[in-house]
Amino acid sequence: MDQVKWITHNKHTKHPLKEVYKNSKFECKICKCNGKEMRFRCDQCDFNIHSACATCPVSLSSFTHPEHAVELMERPNLAHKCHLCQKPITGMVYRCKLCKFFMHPVCSEFPEFLFKHVMHPPHTLKLQLMESSKCDVCDKSCKHWRYFCGICDVHIHVGCLSSKNNISEDDEGGFGEVLGVTILGEIASVIAGSIAGG
Ligand SMILES: [Zn+2]
Ligand SMILES: [Zn+2]
Ligand SMILES: [Zn+2]
Ligand SMILES: [Zn+2]
Ligand SMILES: [Zn+2]
Ligand SMILES: [Zn+2]
Repeated sequence: MDQVKWITHNKHTKHPLKEVYKNSKFECKICKCNGKEMRFRCDQCDFNIHSACATCPVSLSSFTHPEHAVELMERPNLAHKCHLCQKPITGMVYRCKLCKFFMHPVCSEFPEFLFKHVMHPPHTLKLQLMESSKCDVCDKSCKHWRYFCGICDVHIHVGCLSSKNNISEDDEGGFGEVLGVTILGEIASVIAGSIAGG
């Protein structure tokens, strides 16, 4: 049988947190990033945290920064971006003090290699730092870390990597709607133009 997982967390000492899977979005109270699906949650207080953020160690060594161990800290005062996903840091973060290297706890969980991933089944994808290129999923520029297949020259942003086949609906994912609006706008102006012109 499936087991219910409960934890106690020092960020929410009033009640224990239960691990649940929901499709709805939440803002993680630890890293302040959006999340969905698996989370630890207190129903009474509507308090949600990523599973990764709930259990991340205070310090770790990662292949993304092999020179030094990185340490968990509260949000730094200066504006920094996560080196892996390039999104801003708004909450708890892993940092290498010497190198000013920053990484979200969730991003620290990305594996170096992905085998037979649903987004690129025939070859192994490797998470690496490379020259600027284009992401094969969102078609936007990809300047830093990405999952890469050297055989196919495929680059995928970590944020564009979906663990499932479903298309994510977060911030960037909404561009399908924007596109629809733009196309409608163009048709409307073409119609307006032809009426005006003739
Ligand atoms: Zn989090
Ligand atoms: Zn609570
Ligand atoms: Zn990140
Ligand atoms: Zn370092
Ligand atoms: Zn992308
Ligand atoms: Zn390939």
